[in-house]
Amino acid sequence: MNKLEKDDIIQKLIEKGVNSPCPRCGNDAFTLVDGYFNQTIQDSVSGFLVGGTGIPSIVTACTNCGFLSQYALGALGLLPDQLWK
Ligand SMILES: [Zn+2]
Repeated sequence: MNKLEKDDIIQKLIEKGVNSPCPRCGNDAFTLVDGYFNQTIQDSVSGFLVGGTGIPSIVTACTNCGFLSQYALGALGLLPDQLWK
């Protein structure tokens, strides 16, 4: 994740009004985790699926307690096919 990507993500979070304090400890400072996440959607709880459909996302971490908040890139308008239209 480069600085331009990080800046775009932070700007989108601001536009979406993501500015409440940490739901666990009340701290108001977060850091953007340096990378993307892609949780896989499984149609069963048994086994472990590698590949398949997923939800590309980013994560912020509370700087006090480490609580992680996950945001879908699609909802932020940051999926590659959304950016290139
Ligand atoms: Zn916290």
